[in-house]
Amino acid sequence: MDLIYANDPLEGLYDQVLVRYGEIGLKGKNRHVFEDRLVRNMQKALAGLPPRKINRTFGRMFVPLDGDAREVLPRLQRVFGIVSLSPVVTVGRDLDEIKEWALKLAHGHGGSFRVDVRRADKSFPQSSIEMDRLLGAHLLKEYPHLHVDLEHPELTVSVEIRPEGTYMYSRTWPGPGGLPLGSSGRGILLLSGGIDSPVAGWMMMKRGLELMPLHFHSPPFTSERSKEKVLDLCRVLASYAGSISLHLCHFTEVQKAIHRECPADLGVIIMRRMMMRIAAQTAFAKGALALVTGESLGQVASQTIESISVISQASPLPILRPLVGMDKDKIVDQARLIGTYETSILPFDDCCTLFVPRHPQTRPQLSQVEKAEEPLAIAELVQEAVDKTEVIEIGG
Ligand code: ATP
Ligand code: MG
Repeated sequence: MDLIYANDPLEGLYDQVLVRYGEIGLKGKNRHVFEDRLVRNMQKALAGLPPRKINRTFGRMFVPLDGDAREVLPRLQRVFGIVSLSPVVTVGRDLDEIKEWALKLAHGHGGSFRVDVRRADKSFPQSSIEMDRLLGAHLLKEYPHLHVDLEHPELTVSVEIRPEGTYMYSRTWPGPGGLPLGSSGRGILLLSGGIDSPVAGWMMMKRGLELMPLHFHSPPFTSERSKEKVLDLCRVLASYAGSISLHLCHFTEVQKAIHRECPADLGVIIMRRMMMRIAAQTAFAKGALALVTGESLGQVASQTIESISVISQASPLPILRPLVGMDKDKIVDQARLIGTYETSILPFDDCCTLFVPRHPQTRPQLSQVEKAEEPLAIAELVQEAVDKTEVIEIGG
């Protein structure tokens, strides 16, 4: 299955997209709420194109096309909750018409194929199996260079015969899967300019969490360019989310205070704990119930289990770390797939790289860190940073 919709010579002929969604079909009573949200999110993704009504039937949805498969499919491929998409032609019940379309759907194909007929309309004269054979034989007769492979065909010509019409398709594109964005509430994503945190954010959005990214910058020590980079990362995230509110937190005073008042070897841990406090306070103000970071166990000194434990205890809210068990190369693969990698690897100056001690503590203890934090006016620093946070709306 190709990943991104492209190069389909039939694209002008399709009249609908069949949308399959997975898990949300399993949610019992909540099912309607999830489906409503999925429809809303799909409509949002299609904003700017001619309006259309999305139809729901039998645990799937149909999006009408107006010769614009090329516009619609790539947008729907970014809607969380969608498992896969097939552009379809809707034809009648006439056998000759179905046979003719089967030929069109297999046109230009050179290898193995199978036919997969589902007859939901029992008044249709032939059974599914009869139709499989009939259409298979027709294809072989017209295209003798093809051969049948029922197990691993390169092409499947699918036919669904329903009372309201016969749907035919031969191509299926993956969606991101997961749950509709917003169906799991709201969280704050601690977004750096690195590789990991955009991936972490994407993974939680895929689980339905609406995210507000929060970025800490420390001008004049961090540059305007590193801020631009974070804006670019948000644009990529917004291409999945519709729109996103980036929170930019002015962190310079906090960092200076840590540098001035606290032991250097605990500086990074204390800085992270300050980030968590600021993020949690922002979350309370915005109705968010969790924080999200790109931490992965053991990746750097501040991500040992001791550090993660001490950092976590600064936050009254749960910290979700979707990358915690992932190896770096897998995170990089994912970053490439979602489109953040090229931006993430641009050189930049992160506030985290300021004042980094030569020998950071890798096994900090809570009591030791709390003692080291005593000289800080924590509540005031947090409040001041929250007050100075700037919000930038980024469209999808
Ligand atoms: P990343 O690729 O996300 O920068 P990293 O491996 O470089 O991750 P660290 O620099 O140790 O990890 O940061 C750990 C996590 O802390 C990041 O994934 C991110 O969630 C958060 N974080 C780090 N720096 C910032 C920042 N300047 N603003 C907001 N969050 C940050
Ligand atoms: Mg980083």
